[in-house]
Amino acid sequence: MIEDFQLRVDPRTAADEGRIINYLNRHHGVAPGRVKKVRILKRSIDARQRQVYVNLTVRCFMDSLSDMTPRYEPYVYGDVSRQPQAIVVGAGPGGLFAALRLIELGVRPVVLERGKNVVDRRLDLARISREGIVDEDSNYSFGEGGAGAYSDGKLYTRSKKRGSVDRILQIFNQFGASENILIDAHPHIGSDKLPGVIRNMREQIIASGGEVHFQTKVTSLVLEDNCVKGVECADGSRFDGPVILATGHSARDVYRMLDGADIVLEPKGIAVGVRLEHPQHLIDQIQYHSPQGRGEYLPAAEYSFVVQVEERGVYSFCMCPGGIVVPASSGPEQLVVNGMSPANRGSQWANSGMVVEVRPEDIGKKYDKFGALRMMAFQEDLERLCYEQSGRTLNAGAQRMVDFVEGRDTKSLPRTSYAPGIHPSRLDKWLPPMIGRRLQQGFRRFGKLRPGFLTNEAILIGVESRTSSPVRIPRDAERMTHIEVAGLYPCGEGAGYAGGIVSAAMDGERCAEAVARLLLPEQ
Ligand SMILES: Cc1cc2nc3c(=O)[nH]c(=O)nc-3n(C[C@H](O)[C@H](O)[C@H](O)COP(=O)(O)OP(=O)(O)OC[C@H]3O[C@@H](n4cnc5c(N)ncnc54)[C@H](O)[C@@H]3O)c2cc1C
Repeated sequence: MIEDFQLRVDPRTAADEGRIINYLNRHHGVAPGRVKKVRILKRSIDARQRQVYVNLTVRCFMDSLSDMTPRYEPYVYGDVSRQPQAIVVGAGPGGLFAALRLIELGVRPVVLERGKNVVDRRLDLARISREGIVDEDSNYSFGEGGAGAYSDGKLYTRSKKRGSVDRILQIFNQFGASENILIDAHPHIGSDKLPGVIRNMREQIIASGGEVHFQTKVTSLVLEDNCVKGVECADGSRFDGPVILATGHSARDVYRMLDGADIVLEPKGIAVGVRLEHPQHLIDQIQYHSPQGRGEYLPAAEYSFVVQVEERGVYSFCMCPGGIVVPASSGPEQLVVNGMSPANRGSQWANSGMVVEVRPEDIGKKYDKFGALRMMAFQEDLERLCYEQSGRTLNAGAQRMVDFVEGRDTKSLPRTSYAPGIHPSRLDKWLPPMIGRRLQQGFRRFGKLRPGFLTNEAILIGVESRTSSPVRIPRDAERMTHIEVAGLYPCGEGAGYAGGIVSAAMDGERCAEAVARLLLPEQ
């Protein structure tokens, strides 16, 4: 027999199956000995009050384990080696989930990725931190797994399509991510676990008869009568088939290539600002209302803020508890930061993007000449400015948080997780005023909402500029193809239709379904 219960328990009870069973015996009238196994279905932390609780939905297998079926039916990937093929450009979450879905639907994916496989890519990331040298095809944005590979691997999304979200989480689990991602209200995989999951996905694509080509940069589309027939690559190779273009928001050469081929693009609003880094114990103390911090049974605490300042959103973005700040530049003369955390979120720092919404109408006439690429040009200028301010190195400018808000010099900086190093810099002076001024006001308000948050123990590191795509590649909502060009399926974050790992993966699946409708209309 199976019975589900909603529980509200202390963190110690939530962490131990035996204690959960005792709790059920004492508070829910379950006779001792009846519960053979407890499966946690959902788990969330309620830290709104001084006493922190964990809300659990648990499924109890009573009297015997005969009813205990797996959490979900595994997805089946058959042999597609003799099936029609489709090209998937980019092996980020959008491209990988598109490829897997194509296989499920009976189409053979050919995945083309400019970067290296997820293991070799790691050496290039180390070089960025150690020597400040950025390989334009292998960095925190480019390479197998895409921008999501070396991230916190947060899997939350604002999407309300629960069925589709669950499917993505189950597929991640099937390829090796912890079962916790199916349970936690705020699931995450961790930068140390993601590469293994990604490798397993690639091995499945190949085992099913698909192809994965690394260090294969697509440089042009093969266009005939306004229809994309395939792609050409930097090494002279050509691949034929309809094209799912999942190249992410940092592939500026791809936007330029499309613009140069007169393919209609649109500028898109972005959000830019800084990375804010606090000691994690401070965030634990604030969020869990305790001088002792998180104690033994609670995870590294998170936060999330959003306010409106002068008609624009100011908000925290991609918070990484127990994480590190990383140099996320994808080319020369750029200084860009981002954040990631390992699965245990065990570092001594908490970081988060703190960003201000910027719309196309905010950036001034000087960018008009860039047409649909004007937001991208603004983003590039800001990253170059940050690089210049840092003496043309990746040693980033930083300012203590209160000094930034008060417009003061920072004399000395605390230790940071950002490996290339930091130096004092007046971010309040050189950030565009529409961003700096709003951040100052936003921080004051966050400090009022959470006493202790606005502190000089925290530092700002510049700049956080890759929060979303500065360009949209417009597509038909039904067919999923570009509004004017057949055979081209703009996909994921780079197309402007997703933000984050889960939504990019969901978008990849939708593009794959549209391609399958084209290639296998009888199904
Ligand atoms: C450091 C960091 C941390 C992040 N943390 C999180 C997080 O915790 N949770 C979350 O939801 N999101 C996070 N993100 C954002 C997330 O990674 C992206 O939203 C997501 O990866 C977008 O998926 P995508 O497949 O659309 O594009 P991408 O992941 O950007 O993948 C695009 C792929 O295309 C390849 N490519 C580009 N141009 C070409 C070309 N010309 N030819 C061939 N291949 C090409 C690239 O090499 C890349 O592999 C993070 C991003 C970064 C950089």
